[in-house]
Amino acid sequence: MNQEVTGRRGLAQRTLDALITTDPHQRIRLAMAGLSALLMLGCIGAMHLVAAAGLTDPVPVYWWTLACGAGITTVFVLIRSGASRRFADPSLTLFQIVYAIACNAAAYVIAGPARGIAPPILAVIMMFGVFGLTPRQMVGVALYGLVAFGAAGAVVQWWHPAWLSPDSQPPALSAAYLVMIAVVLASSTFLTTRVHSARARLRSQKRELAAAVEQIRELAIRDELTGLPNRRCMLEMMRLEHARAQRSRQPLLLAQLDLDHFKVVNDTHGHAAGDVALQSFAQTVHGCVRASDLLARWGGEEFLLLMANTHPADGTRLLERVRATVAATPVALPGGTQLSLTVSVGLAELAPGESTAALLQRADAALYGAKRLGRNRVLLAH
Ligand code: GH3
Ligand code: MG
Ligand code: MG
Repeated sequence: MNQEVTGRRGLAQRTLDALITTDPHQRIRLAMAGLSALLMLGCIGAMHLVAAAGLTDPVPVYWWTLACGAGITTVFVLIRSGASRRFADPSLTLFQIVYAIACNAAAYVIAGPARGIAPPILAVIMMFGVFGLTPRQMVGVALYGLVAFGAAGAVVQWWHPAWLSPDSQPPALSAAYLVMIAVVLASSTFLTTRVHSARARLRSQKRELAAAVEQIRELAIRDELTGLPNRRCMLEMMRLEHARAQRSRQPLLLAQLDLDHFKVVNDTHGHAAGDVALQSFAQTVHGCVRASDLLARWGGEEFLLLMANTHPADGTRLLERVRATVAATPVALPGGTQLSLTVSVGLAELAPGESTAALLQRADAALYGAKRLGRNRVLLAH
């Protein structure tokens, strides 16, 4: 029983997929075309009711039905086959609206005394345009609609072809219909401009929001002064690299770098000069390390360097180069003063089963050792 239900649902799904495809863009286009087809079917039904009631001649209604059906079929085939993808508007919205207005104006002519059903349908057709056309296209469509219904009104008033059942409509009623139609066309054009400006506002708000989110993300992971990843980002990277190193049994090194006698820099040259020195230091170190190393500002004048897949001998060599480069690169302060900086470094290699906190503590202890030994040196923890 369950299988039967599933089978039936499967068949319904397959039929739907065959009709409106599985491509989401095509599905929307075909669903919209289906909606306008339903609207047209409703109109066809109404016209046949009018003809069956003897209010108008059924023969023009049959021809009109054929023309409507041909339009719907053409639109469906063009979209379903993918041929419409070559056009600027693959949904064929403009074509559908122009064709529907032509059918609507024709219905106005052949519906006899029931032609009052046409203007409300015109309003629904124009609703499709409000969401699918540009304000410029809508102005064009509105003008075209005015011409189409003006011609239809003229046919009803002054031209009485043999194939059309005679129907004398008072000119005042024709004028009233035309005014109604003009109101529908003008108001939908106005609505389109409102919808378009609301959409443009939404798009720009969306862009601003995305930029703000991006900025917040940056603020959350980056140190504002040096531009390096901050403590939060480093903690996360340490967690990830720690897990990776334990899994792959590859060496992982952590170095703690601390500027020597930095308090003196602030005390002598001022806090702003200290900031410049920190920026310059960060740049110098960043220029020495490899792209795979992660340098972060840990806080104050302390920095961390995380080196994955690196043996202690290579790490020590790299940090020795960092130390020598910092010592050999004077910082140019805004006043023209040249400032010499040195850095002390404590380095530790992750031991099997060791936590990141314990690794950090050993790097810190090695840094303390480097300071005690006279600063401006690299010390590897045991
Ligand atoms: P040591 O060689 O023992 O590390 O001496 P030190 O003076 O560098 O160490 P201490 O920890 O006593 O001083 C660190 C100084 O770094 C004190 C603090 O004012 C300064 N500092 C921390 N963060 C900043 C900052 O963002 N900008 C500036 N300009 N100074 C900072
Ligand atoms: Mg210091
Ligand atoms: Mg310090």
